[in-house]
Amino acid sequence: MQACDRCHLLVGEPSSVPPHADLAASGVARLANRCKTDSRWRCMACGAWMYQGTALGEPPNMWRMGPRPQDMVDVKV
Ligand SMILES: [Zn+2]
Repeated sequence: MQACDRCHLLVGEPSSVPPHADLAASGVARLANRCKTDSRWRCMACGAWMYQGTALGEPPNMWRMGPRPQDMVDVKV
């Protein structure tokens, strides 16, 4: 999979940077205590999964690219 330029540009940016136009919201990840760790976005252009981390994310408050979430079944937007 080859990520598009706009996804590449977003990786490593602070989470305060808004998602680019081709990213569609795909739910959020939460810890067992319900604290949100990141927002998930799917790029409609290249198919990459982008994670917009919160302060509890890994890394915190930063965009990263990752594999398809394993727990998509219980993700609700
Ligand atoms: Zn993309």
